[in-house]
Formats: sequence, C-alpha cells, structure tokens
Amino acid sequence: MPKVMVVGAGAVAQVTMCKLARRPDLFPEIVLASRTFSKCKAIAEKHPQARIIPEQLDADDVSQTVALLKKHKPALLLNLALPYQDLALMEACLEAGVDYLDTASYEPPDIPFYEYKYQWAYHERYERAGISAVLGIGFDPGVTNAFVAYAAKHLFDEIHYLDIIDCNAGDHGRPFATNFNLEINLREITQTGRYYLNGEIVEVPPLSVAQDVRFPEIGVRKAYLIFHEELESLVKHFPSLRRARFWMTFSEKYLMHLNAFVNAGLTRIDPVDYEGCKIVPIKFLQRLLPDPASLAPDYKGWVSIGVQLRGIKDGQERTAFIYTNIKHEWAYADCGAQAVAYTAGVPPAIAAELIVSGSWKKPGVWNVEQLPPEPLLERLPAAGLPWKVVVDYPLDFTDIPE
Ligand code: NDP
Repeated sequence: MPKVMVVGAGAVAQVTMCKLARRPDLFPEIVLASRTFSKCKAIAEKHPQARIIPEQLDADDVSQTVALLKKHKPALLLNLALPYQDLALMEACLEAGVDYLDTASYEPPDIPFYEYKYQWAYHERYERAGISAVLGIGFDPGVTNAFVAYAAKHLFDEIHYLDIIDCNAGDHGRPFATNFNLEINLREITQTGRYYLNGEIVEVPPLSVAQDVRFPEIGVRKAYLIFHEELESLVKHFPSLRRARFWMTFSEKYLMHLNAFVNAGLTRIDPVDYEGCKIVPIKFLQRLLPDPASLAPDYKGWVSIGVQLRGIKDGQERTAFIYTNIKHEWAYADCGAQAVAYTAGVPPAIAAELIVSGSWKKPGVWNVEQLPPEPLLERLPAAGLPWKVVVDYPLDFTDIPE
C-alpha cells in the first residue's frame, strides 16, 4: 500500500491520524506535515505502532509542498489544514501528480464567502492529469452529502426538500469556545444566511431565522439557519431539489458571547493598527480562547447531525431522516477527541482508504455526492459513527412555510 501525506495537525487532523495510525495494513507510512513541527512530532509519538514521518510545511507555499511531495511520493494528500490552503495544496498535487482530499471549501482570506467555483475550476486539469480530488469529506460537508446521495439512490425517485440539521448538545464547562477552528467557525456563522428556494438563493440577515427542532436523544433545541457549503453542490447535483437549507443549534450563552464579540469588533477580519502593530481581531480572539482540541477531556453529551428529506417514491409523498448521534465521551474514549472534531476527522480516514484502494479513485474534482455513497456509509459504524435511516417519519419541519 502507498504512503499518504496529511497536512495540518489540529483538532480534526488528530482524529484522522488516530484512525490512519490503526491501519498499518492500509497506511504503512504516513507523512504528517504542518506549520508547527512540534505538533506533528507530538502526534507521531502518540502512535508508536505506526510509521509516521513528521515534517514542517508552510502549505501556502506551493513550491514547499511540491518539494515534500516529490521527496516522499505519497499517493494521496489529505488537506486537514484550513480552507485558505485548499488552492495552494490542489495546485501542488496537480504539479506532483498526487490525489487530494479536503474537508472544507476554499474561502479567500480577505472575503468571508466560500464557494466551490475556485476548486471546481480544477476539474479538467485533474482529469487530464489522471488524479482525483474529493472535496469536503468531513461530516457536514461529507457524510451529509453521502446521506443525500444514498437517499436519492435507494429511497426516493425525486427529492424536493432538504434540511440538514446539526446539533451539538454537549457541555465542555467553559464560558465560550468553538468546536473547530474559531476563525473559520465565526466567519461561517456571522455571514449572511443563505438557502435555496426554487432555483434562487434567498438571503437573510445572520442568525435571524430560527426554528425549534426535535433531535433524537436530545429533544427540542433552537436551530438557526446558516449557509453551509454542501448546499451549493447538492442543489447542483440534485436539480429536483426545490428547497435546501442548513440549520445549526447554538445555546443562548454561546449567542450572548458571540454578540458581544461582534459588537466589540472582535470578529473583524481586517488588520487594525494597535500601537504600531497590525492586529487582526478575529485571530487575536482565537489566541485568547480555548483550542478546540483541548475541550475534549471535559466534554459530555450528544452531537446529532442528519438530513431531513421530503420527495416522492412511486408517485407517493415520502419523508426520510438519516442521521448520526454520538457522544463526546465516546469520541474521547476512542481517540482522545471531542465529538465535533471526531465527526469531521473520521470520514477523511475512510475516504483515504477508498481513494488509495480505488473505489473512490476517479480522475477529476468531485463532491462527495458524486461518488458511490455505500463504501463510505458501510464503513462508518465500525469506524465509530453509527447512522440510522427512518422512512416516513413525521418531520418537525413539514409545517414551515416556504
Ligand atoms: P485547527 O485550527 O485545529 O487546525 C488547523 C491546522 O492547520 C493547524 O495544525 C495549523 O497549524 C495548520 N495550518 C494552518 N495554516 C497552515 C499553513 N499555512 N501551513 C501548514 N499548516 C497550516 O482546525 P481544525 O482541525 O478545527 O479544522 C481543520 C479543518 O477542518 C478546517 O478546514 C475546518 O473548516 C474543517 N472542518 C470540517 C468539518 C466538516 O465536517 N466538514 C467540521 C469541522 C472542521 P498550527 O498548528 O501551526 O496552527
């Protein structure tokens, strides 16, 4: 089996490394390259049974990545750094002829607005080079896209309505923390809310639309409409969708802190002059608040992520709900992680297996719903992410007006 190279050594990468390191039969050698070498070394030392080669890398520098790829000759690069690195890493993979995957779509650092157009533009060049790129293979995006592909293939003739619902009902005991990279997370949720309705994009002010949603095992929580990248690819690949929305829960305490940060200008992404130094407020805020990986030991409670679907099968209206529920404690017991990093970090490890073994190897640039969902979904439960399908379930969203 060939080598793989992981880029990034944060909360999500630590989970993926935990899973890759347990499969020396599939991944006999793993190069782990990130900005801070000591983090790569520490992860390598945590998994003495695996052959992990730590390296230092500035992934914004295409030539550095190409040099590392040429040195180690991996078959696949797993980009678990930040969305800002996506294009530089895709460019490097193209130059070195290496397959690529990531968990988040590219977003220009100075514009908090993410779109797939930048990465889709690589499709023909990847196809010509005979290499594959799989975009957005975390949980959401990632497994949620596979849930929709599975439903389209096995449960519906046409899907008309999609609601992706994401609830973290866990408690880490800190006044405020984000569950993955703070800068990326706060840029996402403070953006204008967007959803798709009858071929149009509807925009709403940030966090201005909310619904009570009943989540399995958890009960009713208030979920807020936000834009999420998988909506863009799913409406493109499933044109029968009349409406597609994404909802995420936030506690009142979380929103109270968020509002204070926004009002104080601490979520600003432009440099501010402070006594002769340029400071980007959101990066400074990230420095002050807990590292998402550090929340793991104290985190307790459920995370639930699923897709609610409505459409037709054999001329009859049908609903389906496909979801995963896991506890922070389970993620900690398995990989020393909290459940949000875990749900995002397990799927790339499975995707790596599928790409190197050939079942997801397909030259070009693909979103997860364009690949066969079964090999991913079949492997999820054994990897720690059980999932369930409920058909003709009375969806809590059915009475929401369009
Ligand atoms: P972290 O901030 O914990 O980790 C990011 C890592 O990338 C860090 O190790 C960081 O280095 C490294 N990095 C940043 N810039 C560079 C660079 N220029 N060169 C090399 N390495 C770099 O983030 P998370 O682990 O929380 O998130 C990782 C990714 O996963 C993000 O893109 C996020 O959006 C995505 N995600 C996807 C989800 C999904 O379900 N699809 C859910 C959650 C997250 P350093 O350690 O030096 O800071």
